[in-house]
Amino acid sequence: EAKRSGRDSYAFFTAKAAALMQERLAIEKELRVALSEQTLNLLYQPLFSLRDGTIVGAEALVRWRHPTMGDIPPGKFIGIAEDAGLISELGQFVLERAVTETAALVRDSSDLRIAVNVSVLQLEDPTFANRIEACLARADFPLDRLEIEITESVAMRDSDVVQRQIVDLRRAGVHFSLDDFGTGYSNLSMLARLPVDTLKIDRSLVAGIHHSVEQQAIVRTILALSQSMGFASIVEGVEAAEERDFVIAAGADIAQGFFFSRPVSFDMLKGMQLTRALSRVTDRSENGVGR
Ligand code: C2E
Ligand code: MG
Ligand code: MG
Ligand code: MG
Repeated sequence: EAKRSGRDSYAFFTAKAAALMQERLAIEKELRVALSEQTLNLLYQPLFSLRDGTIVGAEALVRWRHPTMGDIPPGKFIGIAEDAGLISELGQFVLERAVTETAALVRDSSDLRIAVNVSVLQLEDPTFANRIEACLARADFPLDRLEIEITESVAMRDSDVVQRQIVDLRRAGVHFSLDDFGTGYSNLSMLARLPVDTLKIDRSLVAGIHHSVEQQAIVRTILALSQSMGFASIVEGVEAAEERDFVIAAGADIAQGFFFSRPVSFDMLKGMQLTRALSRVTDRSENGVGR
């Protein structure tokens, strides 16, 4: 009996694994099509200054609407793109689309920055930095208005190629930020060696922060540490007015999250940027924003 149920759960496991494998293969195959037909799209999630409610930047986020499978979230296909050797092509598409689409808007505004997410595999390519610089030059996009988001594992990657790409780009004026900060396992001494300008505090630390004194202590400490080490900080995933109020009181400068705005089309971003007054920062705050 025990043997039999063991075999059943094994059969169940393999069926599930096979289904997963099949889905991955389908996604990989369809992703190749989407890349060659350039049917992926970008949305932009605005970043808001907590001092005055203005939009100071936007993060480009890739979107894939498949004709029959519907919307496939990046969380589902980025990892597959990495495994299938497609991430450089995908990353190049995202970068090119983002800078060509936003170049004029960026040039017309004094402080707007565009952030793109970059995978470690892209940085392992020794031609990455040169290709980025060429791409920005073609689009007439100023180097110092690009923000590259990397993760802790990338920043600490013990790879000469990766480190050199980062150093070259930073020297050229490109900004780097550390995404999902607070979710990794590095010791704090790594902070001194991080090749980034900005820490983006992960939304898991912010969700429900007004209910948790522990989270409050963590975020306050990270913000203080970040400031004393000379990093700028961005708080991700602010969904509620109470969360916004807390991060303002804790000294955060910039925030991003559904409370302020979901990711939007480029046209909407442009509209929001032009009519700065629309920011929900000012709408929702009783005492006005600022410290
Ligand atoms: P990320 O870089 O940390 O991007 C932020 C993610 O959090 C986005 O999800 C965004 O829609 C979501 N988000 C923003 N504010 C809130 C909020 O208030 N509440 C909640 N629940 N979520 C919020 P998205 O677009 O699904 O992207 C997921 C991840 O996929 C990104 O996390 C990033 O790691 C990756 N990704 C997205 N686009 C690209 C890309 O072009 N290239 C690469 N390599 N990775 C990408
Ligand atoms: Mg990001
Ligand atoms: Mg993030
Ligand atoms: Mg994240």
